Amino acid sequence: MSIATSHIEGFAGTVLTPGHHRYDTARAVFNGAIDRHPALIAEAADARDVAAALAHGRERDMLIAVRAGGHSGAGYGVVDDGLVIDVRPMQRVEVDLAARTVRAGAGLTWAQLDAATQAHGLAVTGGRVSHTGVAGLTLGSGSGWLERVHGLTADNLVRATVVTADGSVVRAHEHEHPDLFWALRGGGGNFGVVTEFELALHPVGPMVHGGMLMFQWSRAGEALAAYRDLMLAAPDEFSGCAALQLAPPAPFVPGQLIGEPVTTIVVAAFGDPADAERLLAPLRALAPVVDAVGPMPYVALQSMLDEGNPHGMQNQWKAGFLDELPDRAIGDALGAAAGIPSPLTVVLLQPLGGAYARVDEDATALSHRDAGWAYHALSMWPDPADTPHNRAWTEAFAAAMAPYGSGAAHPNYVSEDAGERVRRFYGAETYERLVAVKQRWDPQNVFALNQNIRPDDGRTTD
Ligand SMILES: Cc1cc2nc3c(=O)[nH]c(=O)nc-3n(C[C@H](O)[C@H](O)[C@H](O)COP(=O)(O)OP(=O)(O)OC[C@H]3O[C@@H](n4cnc5c(N)ncnc54)[C@H](O)[C@@H]3O)c2cc1C
Repeated sequence: MSIATSHIEGFAGTVLTPGHHRYDTARAVFNGAIDRHPALIAEAADARDVAAALAHGRERDMLIAVRAGGHSGAGYGVVDDGLVIDVRPMQRVEVDLAARTVRAGAGLTWAQLDAATQAHGLAVTGGRVSHTGVAGLTLGSGSGWLERVHGLTADNLVRATVVTADGSVVRAHEHEHPDLFWALRGGGGNFGVVTEFELALHPVGPMVHGGMLMFQWSRAGEALAAYRDLMLAAPDEFSGCAALQLAPPAPFVPGQLIGEPVTTIVVAAFGDPADAERLLAPLRALAPVVDAVGPMPYVALQSMLDEGNPHGMQNQWKAGFLDELPDRAIGDALGAAAGIPSPLTVVLLQPLGGAYARVDEDATALSHRDAGWAYHALSMWPDPADTPHNRAWTEAFAAAMAPYGSGAAHPNYVSEDAGERVRRFYGAETYERLVAVKQRWDPQNVFALNQNIRPDDGRTTD
């Protein structure tokens, strides 16, 4: 039962109900396929607001969604007829130069956080699209260009302030509620509402060496094999990914290629530019049709993909870790990608390794540190009428990659509810541990709108 009222006892922020002039904007999320109408949107400014909203929702048995950047593909940040706790008003950002950390309010986007830390020549691994939320991305892993040098965003979490299901405000850190601290690093929104993140910072930029090389489809196989081979010997500071896509109508793309399938190698290099240039030589020998690699500000690298990721499109994402990237996998990926149906769709082949791989499997809730690569089939199209066709393509691409990995992904990267597959995504051992933490901190599954770890799911076998 849900009872809509615009008053929440003890809540100092704004509460939006249907009819409020900002209601439709506030309920919209990145994935345009999600169109949900909450009874209440509680714009929380601090932990006290969160606790008041939680109490209100729990007393009325409302479904409770927690929303930050709104980029969950499954639309977990918004719920029909329920209560949305919107943390976007929490915008505080404070860099501690002595400790080399940043305290970040849960409502920040990566554009905002990167701007604040780059003012000091510092950064933490962040998302590859700058309008993504810091909160959901960090809690669900946080894969970014810096991960081979500094690990995932979650690996850099030092402390979190959390409002738990019973309304208590706790701090989680290595020596304070270590079980909760462990689970927050990858367990998503299952354990409470984080109001502030403290993240480790590293010297980065402000200028880095980055950009892209684009190859005609006829050279795609050679380019991908050369990229795989050079990544085997690349230092941690050399990162990026390969992308399969239809060439976008960008000013730097030759006119005859626009709309044609191409392979792009994205370069994100944080070491000596001369080393990066040396590594790129085998790719340059394959005559890229676009060569746009050079010095650029880190914040430009961080927003380089923004334009290709507009809000409000239909989305379906499939992802999976790959043990390696053998020639057969490259051939199968190219075969499946050849018929990419939408100009907004991109397949990413992501090299892992480096600092990402050096984190112990049990140090965080994020397993699969030994995978060599990951694939991401990011399908995006404007017209809902084209949904069946685009979804069929995404499923077929995932099926083509299935022989090359375990089928697991970090749950951030799938756009549908993973349901029973959440166990496989985490791995049985990590999942059991997450269930135990869930039983302690959210035994009634108040935080259920996420890739859910059910407190009653204590099985020991798959
Ligand atoms: C265009 C695009 C690019 C992306 N790029 C990357 C990338 O480079 N690397 C990467 O790792 N991922 C990437 N993702 C995936 C992204 O990290 C996840 O979708 C993430 O969950 C989004 O977080 P959010 O805060 O924007 O979303 P939201 O939808 O607001 O939240 C996502 C989840 O986190 C929970 N949550 C949000 N705020 C809080 C909080 N304060 N406390 C507790 N739980 C909370 C929500 O309840 C929900 O379950 C990308 C997604 C998109 C759409």
